Amino acid sequence: MSNADQAELDKFSALAHRWWDPNSEFRPLHEINPLRLEWIDGLAQLNGKAVLDVGCGGGILAEGMAGKGAQVTGIDLGEKALKVAKLHKLESGVQVDYELVAVEDLAEAQPASFDVVTCMEMLEHVPDPAGIVAACAHLVKPGGWVFCSTLNRNPKSYLFAILGAEYILKMLPRGTHDWAKFIKPSELAGFARQAGLELQQVMGMSYNPITKTYKLERDTDVNYLMAFRKA
Ligand code: SAH
Repeated sequence: MSNADQAELDKFSALAHRWWDPNSEFRPLHEINPLRLEWIDGLAQLNGKAVLDVGCGGGILAEGMAGKGAQVTGIDLGEKALKVAKLHKLESGVQVDYELVAVEDLAEAQPASFDVVTCMEMLEHVPDPAGIVAACAHLVKPGGWVFCSTLNRNPKSYLFAILGAEYILKMLPRGTHDWAKFIKPSELAGFARQAGLELQQVMGMSYNPITKTYKLERDTDVNYLMAFRKA
C-alpha cells in the first residue's frame, strides 16, 4: 500500500455511510455522474466492454457504467466505501465486482485485461499520481481507453475548488482537497504519455452556483477530464 495516503483513505471512510445520499458530502459526485458517464460512453461505447473503475468509492460511476451494459470491476483501498458499494448494488440490482486491491498489484496480476479503465476524482488524493496512471495504462488492452479526472492547479482553482467549494458554498467538508496536490492538464498528459497513452480529448467541467448545475465545457481551469487510448 505504498502509493496511498492513509489519512486520505480515512477521510473518505469517515463519510462512506452517506455515499449514496444525494444531499450528502458526495452530492457533487452524484451531480457530475450523468455528465461524465455520457461522455465516457460516447467515446468508448461501454456496452459489452470489460471496465475497471479505479478508486470507485461507493460505486456511483461503476454502477452507472454497469447500467450501460459494461462488465464492471470496481477497486478501492477504502474498506468502508467498498462495503457501501457492495450493499448498494444489492439494492439497485446492478452487477459490479468490487475488490480491495491496489491498482499497481492488479496491474501485475492482470495486465492488458480491460477495454476501458476509469480513474475519477482520485489522482489528487494519492502520493504518486504518475504511478497510478502507469498502472491504469498497464491494465488496459492495446487500443483501449483510459479516462481520468482531477483538479487543475492555478490561482482560479484555489479560489473555486478550495475557497468557493469548501469555505463559501460549503459543498465539500473543509480539508477535502489539498490544493498543492492538484494536477495541471500538462502534467497529467505527461504522466499518460510516459505510460504509453495517447491523449484523445480534454474536457473541462464547471459549476454554476446560481443554477446549481454542472456542465462540460472547454474551460479546464478547475475541474477537468482527459480521455486517452493505449497505442
Ligand atoms: N471515483 C469515485 C470516487 C471518488 S472519491 C467517483 O468519482 O465517484 C476518491 C476515492 O479514491 C475514495 O473512494 C478513496 O478511498 C479512493 N482512494 C484514495 N486513494 C486511493 C488509492 N491509492 N487507491 C485506491 N483508491 C484510493
